[in-house]
Amino acid sequence: MIIIMKHDATQAQIDYVVAKVEGLGYEAHLSAGQERTIVGVIGDDRPIDPGNFQPIQGVENVLSILKPFKLASREMHPMDTVVDVDGLLIGGNELVIMAGPCSVENRDQLLETAHAVKESGATILRGGAFKPRSSPYSFQGLGEEGLELLAEARHETGLKIITEAMSPEQVPVVAKYADIIQLGARNMQNYELLRAAGRAGLPVLLKRGLMATIEEWLMSAEYLLSVGNERIILCERGIRSFESYTRNTTDINAIPVVQELSHLPVILDPSHSTGKWEYVTAVARAGVAAGADGLIIEVHPNPEEALSDGAQSLRPERFAELVGQVREVARAVGRELIEPEWTSKTPA
Ligand code: PEP
Ligand code: MN
Repeated sequence: MIIIMKHDATQAQIDYVVAKVEGLGYEAHLSAGQERTIVGVIGDDRPIDPGNFQPIQGVENVLSILKPFKLASREMHPMDTVVDVDGLLIGGNELVIMAGPCSVENRDQLLETAHAVKESGATILRGGAFKPRSSPYSFQGLGEEGLELLAEARHETGLKIITEAMSPEQVPVVAKYADIIQLGARNMQNYELLRAAGRAGLPVLLKRGLMATIEEWLMSAEYLLSVGNERIILCERGIRSFESYTRNTTDINAIPVVQELSHLPVILDPSHSTGKWEYVTAVARAGVAAGADGLIIEVHPNPEEALSDGAQSLRPERFAELVGQVREVARAVGRELIEPEWTSKTPA
């Protein structure tokens, strides 16, 4: 249930409503918008009588939210959430480009990729140090050494860092180095990890699970929001379907659906959703056309030698082409790419 306060409700009236919610054994989550404050009533599924709140002064309306996700819902937060990553805004009119290798492999590979993606207009460097691999015999990542290399790349380039944590135990070390914590598809429903990452004090990128419905995905976002983290970014990365020609099937539908259901920004990962570099640029264009708030792209200087996901990694030159193309598509749908001051490529 949400309680919509009148636009001129006083702080004392809001406090009274919060105290009443808590007195009934629920938690109150405040969303203070520009126009008005909305109080979310969060708790178990016991029915609450709206009559408890309707007569209170300063209350405009009481609505029950039938969806199972509440804090993630548009009803609770009608305006788009813009996630602030130390001054870099995700979810506003400007689209963010995150790019880098699937895995951090060594210093040269990471720094070469970081400089290349920066030159083409990326503002966030991706790279896994803890890798969720389907086989225990595949490269598992460099661990903390990989995180140190990411920090070095940030220092050299000014790019921000996104990297994955796979378990609650890894969250502190990842949070020590990262600007955004990535939660991978395989862990979308690892609820202890969601809580731990949600509490780390950093923005979280939540990838959609391989077989997850949009509702399940938003319920996982609800876990992050429910521990008090409002800086959540969703990432569509393709779902399993009967089609085996591509690694996954890009659910382009999910972008406008999520934007209708939720206020959270949503970006697209066309690398994992296609699994083949040949299709990454076309699907990236489609995602931006559909309204995605950004892209996360795998780039490797030498994909044939990559220790993970080489088949879907773009060479830096192709990544530069992709950025040029999605810049045009963004303009066609009334948006822009974030143009960091270091790119010389901003067309007139
Ligand atoms: C990745 O980003 O390299 C990754 C493992 O992604 P996903 O969790 O979407 O498979
Ligand atoms: Mn990968």
